[in-house]
Amino acid sequence: MPTCSICGSSKERLVNSAIEGALVSVCDECAKFGNVVGPATENRKNIAHHIAIEEIEFIEDGFHNKVRKGRERKKLTQDELAKNLAEKVSTIHGIESGKLKPTIKLARKLEIFLGIDIISKEAVNLGENKKIDFKDKDVTIGDLLRMKDDN
Ligand SMILES: [Zn+2]
Repeated sequence: MPTCSICGSSKERLVNSAIEGALVSVCDECAKFGNVVGPATENRKNIAHHIAIEEIEFIEDGFHNKVRKGRERKKLTQDELAKNLAEKVSTIHGIESGKLKPTIKLARKLEIFLGIDIISKEAVNLGENKKIDFKDKDVTIGDLLRMKDDN
């Protein structure tokens, strides 16, 4: 059973209370010393994350080359690709020429169908107005070769 951070008594449930600037899990009795923020069962870190960070998806630069190369790899014509994705051939043509930016929904279909990666995610920390690039990941030799291939 969880114990109150202030009086130490064991309780069925605790609440999160802001007491003198610190968020602590306390019993109902001790909660009155501060401002109750919510049930202690909630993960405090998750709540903070939820409020402060907004994730934004966007289409990467150079998407048109990736789409074209992906299509060529599958040995499909623009017409065939359009049919497979239930899109107009003019849409595919526009995307491959770089004149048309696909919607996230269409980009996702292209990613899955062609096995390419054209959507990037960026988390905007609203609290500190700081941008965090979520694209950072372990880069393998295969990735490097692919990058080289794409440029
Ligand atoms: Zn207490």
